[in-house]
Amino acid sequence: MARMTPSSFSYGFDLGPRFQELRPLGTGASGLVLAAVDRRGGRRVAVKKLVLRDALGAKHALREVKITRRLRHDNVVRVYDTLGPCGRPLPRDLAGITAVYIVQELMETDLGRMLEGGPLPVEHATLLFYQLLRGLKFIHSANVLHRDLKPANIFVNPEQLLLKIGDFGLARIVDPHYSHKGYLSEGMVTKWYRSPRLLLSPNNYTKAIDMWAAGCILAEMVTGRMLFAGAHELEQMQLILDTVPVLREEDQQELLKVMPSYVSHGWEVRRTLQELLPEVEDEAIDFLERILTFNPMDRLTAEAALRHPFLRRYSYPQDEPVAPHPFRIEDELEDSLPIIGALLAAAGALWLSG
Ligand code: ATP
Ligand code: MG
Repeated sequence: MARMTPSSFSYGFDLGPRFQELRPLGTGASGLVLAAVDRRGGRRVAVKKLVLRDALGAKHALREVKITRRLRHDNVVRVYDTLGPCGRPLPRDLAGITAVYIVQELMETDLGRMLEGGPLPVEHATLLFYQLLRGLKFIHSANVLHRDLKPANIFVNPEQLLLKIGDFGLARIVDPHYSHKGYLSEGMVTKWYRSPRLLLSPNNYTKAIDMWAAGCILAEMVTGRMLFAGAHELEQMQLILDTVPVLREEDQQELLKVMPSYVSHGWEVRRTLQELLPEVEDEAIDFLERILTFNPMDRLTAEAALRHPFLRRYSYPQDEPVAPHPFRIEDELEDSLPIIGALLAAAGALWLSG
């Protein structure tokens, strides 16, 4: 066993001698993220530690590893390596392994921190949003749903105005050629970026849900304010209904059942998006209205949104790639098997793809 340098065990990271100059970057729900210098190649990296506390934790960690390894795109935080204890390659048999380390490209900041300084100039917001959609088009083409898009999970190098989507801790695989209802059962997305359909039926995850979150993020970039900041789920829905028209009969019927007192005033919105965001120019409002639709069927996909006039200055379809090897139904099912089965399958998949 390699002799440990003092840095190898800092902050409870058991990474072996390869990584040095560790310093904390942030603490997320799943654990600590450190910046470090990778002596192999000399580059600066961010290392996320996923603790495998129990079978469920292991399942989630392996899912994040499996998904992020395959997603290589300019607008997705690059994963260089996934390691086990002592910074060794992940073994075939994961029994007894207590932590997995995801070694990623180091980004300068996240959009959440950037927005603490106030709204962004429209030009900057537009270029960043273009990249968000470009990344999302790729992720969705791989049959991956991010499911937790919010400013803190979107990474930025402000000087180059470079944006990359990160934190795939809640991401799931879904093959649209098959029904997936029932498999996706963990409604955990941060409330403020949750679409109305998801508020109504928390198990019904689709690509359109990521697009709703993206729309909320665009509004937040240009105003500096969170678009719909409900204190709880009911208020979140009320805020949405105040501004987003419910056009389809079936949605109106469903809402009447769930919140009859609120919708008794009729189906007129109380204030339009334009009134809610007076500082936002018309073309951006028109774009947002195509994304923030009540019904997901009416919502622009990432690919379609890239072609909207709002993004005409940046859009270049020949350079907006899709995933060469999308995940398929086997991956989705593997994800939904009983935990032990999934663990074994994921360990095998890791071994094969590694
Ligand atoms: P949460 O569930 O709270 O969103 P998480 O545990 O899933 O968090 P991440 O979102 O991946 O973890 O990372 C937590 C924080 O660590 C980020 O908000 C950011 O501040 C920092 N961080 C993570 N990855 C990177 C990176 N590649 N470059 C720079 N900072 C990073
Ligand atoms: Mg996060």
